[in-house]
Amino acid sequence: MHDIVIVGSRCAGAPLAMLLAGKGHDVVVVDRATFPSDTMSTHFVQPAGMTRLAKWGLLDDVFATGCPPITTARMSTGPGEELELEIPLESALPGLAAPRRYLLDKILVDAAVAAGASLAQGVSIDSVIPDGDRIGGVRGHTADGAFEARGRIVVGADGRHSVIAREVAAPFVRDEGSTSAGYYTYYRGLEADGVETYFHDDVFCVVAPTNDELTLVGLAWRQERFADLRRDVEGNFVATLDRLGDIGERTRSAERAERFVGSAELPNYLRKATGPGWALVGDACYHKDPAPADGISDAFRGAEFLADAINEALSGGDETAAMADFERRHAEVAIPLLEAAVRVADFDNTPQQRLEAFIEIRMHDAQESAELVASTSDA
Ligand SMILES: Cc1cc2nc3c(=O)[nH]c(=O)nc-3n(C[C@H](O)[C@H](O)[C@H](O)COP(=O)(O)OP(=O)(O)OC[C@H]3O[C@@H](n4cnc5c(N)ncnc54)[C@H](O)[C@@H]3O)c2cc1C
Repeated sequence: MHDIVIVGSRCAGAPLAMLLAGKGHDVVVVDRATFPSDTMSTHFVQPAGMTRLAKWGLLDDVFATGCPPITTARMSTGPGEELELEIPLESALPGLAAPRRYLLDKILVDAAVAAGASLAQGVSIDSVIPDGDRIGGVRGHTADGAFEARGRIVVGADGRHSVIAREVAAPFVRDEGSTSAGYYTYYRGLEADGVETYFHDDVFCVVAPTNDELTLVGLAWRQERFADLRRDVEGNFVATLDRLGDIGERTRSAERAERFVGSAELPNYLRKATGPGWALVGDACYHKDPAPADGISDAFRGAEFLADAINEALSGGDETAAMADFERRHAEVAIPLLEAAVRVADFDNTPQQRLEAFIEIRMHDAQESAELVASTSDA
């Protein structure tokens, strides 16, 4: 019997495992994937996420992968309508970054193991094990046979298609649907002007330098266009870039280095995050359209808040009160950011309105980062 069983070991599950194992709790973290491995996601990490990586002592590892520090941003709301700025950064950060997920997630997993968590990779969880009126564990399978783990608290950090959320029938607190669909890929030889973000009439675009001397380019359109776009992904991708300014030309003179990855399932929701013996964190609990590029930072925040609550519950505190406190604290931050993300991703809004919603999120982000730095230096 473990203290905590965590299903999912990427941006939410691995830091949660690291933080709880670091407090001396017996943690097992299970993932159907093995590490290092990639996952479907672009990977620009915003200030709050970078500041948590610094707080956790993982920032040097991230930059040691070779992803360049990003210190400038270009934001565009139409052809010729561009704003260039220095990204305001806390002194702990040499820049923001877009580390590839196969690298970032491995750093997080290694940190969890180094803190004392047991990692079970290549294990697919199928169901929860009830224990009276609580959840008492999980059942699943590996390539070799059955798997079972029991714990006082079971956490679903298992992403958008969370088996734990399904099994406990966690209801939506907010469900704002899905408005966009996108594709991303990587180019070699494409110069990026820091992070470039385009909020044009019917398109969203992000460009950011990443590892392996590649540049990430992501595009999003109205969700209804996805079926049409899929018929000629490359043609539609490049034709759209051509309408955004010189990014089309720069892309044409570069070499595409990877396949296109696409999704039309980019929902906006917040689920009930706790119940007797269980909790949800990361995308399992809270998902937003990726345009504000906040999912990694959101998962880190959720992991930290949940670690505080579980630590309190396992250290003699009142579990129900601690988990209710987590749920309230998480929702208080999550709901306004969800509402703003929906406005960023709604192509019925003008580019200016979408940019304003994006800036609203970034203002929150800057404040959260400053508070994190202040609380870390107080500690
Ligand atoms: C197209 C796209 C672009 C994005 N771009 C960005 C961006 O630029 N910046 C940003 O911050 N965020 C971005 N995001 C969001 C970000 O990817 C997620 O918010 C983040 O990955 C959430 O982390 P997580 O740990 O909750 O879930 P995940 O990263 O999805 O990890 C869940 C883990 O659970 C495991 N798992 C699932 N089910 C089971 C099971 N039954 N048994 C065992 N293991 C299981 C999976 O194998 C996986 O490893 C993007 C998302 C998408 C879809």
